[in-house]
Amino acid sequence: MLKFKRVRFSLLKAGHCHHPEFVTLRGGSWRNIQFPALCALLEHPERGALLYDTGYAEHFYAATQGFPYRLYRWVTPIHLGTSLIEQLAQRGLSSADITTVLISHFHGDHVAGLHDFPHAQFVAMQSDYDAVQQLTGWSALKNGFLPALLPRDFAARVSFVETTRRVNLPREFAPFAEGYDLFGDESLMAFPLPGHVAAQMGLLFRDQHDALRLLIADAAWSQRAITELRFPAPVTRLLFSDTARYRQTLRQLHELQTHHRELTLIPSHCTQTWQSLQQTNA
Ligand SMILES: [Zn+2]
Repeated sequence: MLKFKRVRFSLLKAGHCHHPEFVTLRGGSWRNIQFPALCALLEHPERGALLYDTGYAEHFYAATQGFPYRLYRWVTPIHLGTSLIEQLAQRGLSSADITTVLISHFHGDHVAGLHDFPHAQFVAMQSDYDAVQQLTGWSALKNGFLPALLPRDFAARVSFVETTRRVNLPREFAPFAEGYDLFGDESLMAFPLPGHVAAQMGLLFRDQHDALRLLIADAAWSQRAITELRFPAPVTRLLFSDTARYRQTLRQLHELQTHHRELTLIPSHCTQTWQSLQQTNA
């Protein structure tokens, strides 16, 4: 039986973008709504402070300066607000305190801050990295990837989830059966949530309040999409690497949530999640 050694969890917001609700929720309105770029600070008793994604950062502007990358900025205009670095400083942490950045996937709104953590190691899904690492120009843009956001020494600093210890997940997490014990100490369990991109790293852990949390990145864009099993608009097919797998993953998350109500699923761009969890950051 997995122990789920506790890690201290804070949900942070690093900027947001705007687009109409119907894009991410079929039957949603034309109203322009805010999509926060959420990321998580995880404080591990031995491994120190880690991040799961970095949200938006100033580097996004430089990376979308030239064509065709500038289209990324036009399609999803962003607003930065207090930077992640400043938010960490408010918690007494500097960039150098972040030992590891776990990368859910390589879309610009998840990795825009990597340059701010020159001392950190990176952990990602190998299949996601393989799918983007050679891309430039239009093919990069079409995959939501901005090559300039990856530090030059990225390849030397990254290690892959798939090389860590495979474990069986307890039955309460069905239909997900297997995960990767990232540090081999039963604190952080990663498993793929494919469809949005090739793999995408979901991350399961127990927090300081003994609550089980599952960070799901963009496997769903809102809590509502999971509980009501609502798929995004057909136009989003253009954004997904595999729509059929995306729908399958969303169905699995719906099933998991239905049977395991105490588990909090945390999508990266859900305002409702942000509103309910930002108070628990203590
Ligand atoms: Zn994404």
